[in-house]
Amino acid sequence: MSKKILVIEDEGKIARWVRTYFEQDGFTVLLAGDGPTGLTLAQTEQPDLIILDLNLPGMDGLELCQKLRRHRTKAVAHVPIIMLTARVEEADRLTGLDLGADDYVTKPFSPKELVARAKAIFRRLERDADPSRVFKDGDLVMDVEAHTATLAGHPLELTPNEFAVLATLLEHRGKALSRSQLIELALGHDYEGLERTIDVHIRHIRHKIEANPAQPQRIVTVFGVGYRYEGL
Ligand code: CA
Repeated sequence: MSKKILVIEDEGKIARWVRTYFEQDGFTVLLAGDGPTGLTLAQTEQPDLIILDLNLPGMDGLELCQKLRRHRTKAVAHVPIIMLTARVEEADRLTGLDLGADDYVTKPFSPKELVARAKAIFRRLERDADPSRVFKDGDLVMDVEAHTATLAGHPLELTPNEFAVLATLLEHRGKALSRSQLIELALGHDYEGLERTIDVHIRHIRHKIEANPAQPQRIVTVFGVGYRYEGL
């Protein structure tokens, strides 16, 4: 069965253009021209991925993204989202906020690139579904397939991006990873010019897993390179 893409975009020309490219690649495409319609379709159709424009009538992309992530239906709450934004600085700011979008694409964009980003997300999800990916370090346990992380038996509250970054570090335990490697391995694409957002994720993760975040023992900084999962 072909994967279903929901495009929530009020500019009809862009929406139809995106649809054409995804359809050429064998995807099924649904279109919504405003936020409320998009939210309804996300619930009733349960698409495999959502392309979400930031500036929308009715309900903007930010609000809609948050509503989806908090949705009581798991399939809706975990649907991959690619945000379309008008400016690079906007994408930068949004990544820092970590609203739960999986990727950001800046307008004007190439629809081919958008399809490639979507495929990268699907590849990452398939890889994450590999049941062998359970990582342990002392009292820290991550089960990638179940998408759970616990510390001393208590659930760790990690955003989707933090989860992916921590799982990647654990998977490459003992090996120094550069920021761009981490972005590519964890987030499945190249956040061009946004490498410092990894630092934000690491800071948040350290606060959640390190006994003393100011003197991290698990995730160590490798000066001039990036980070390494050292472990306890
Ligand atoms: Ca728009």
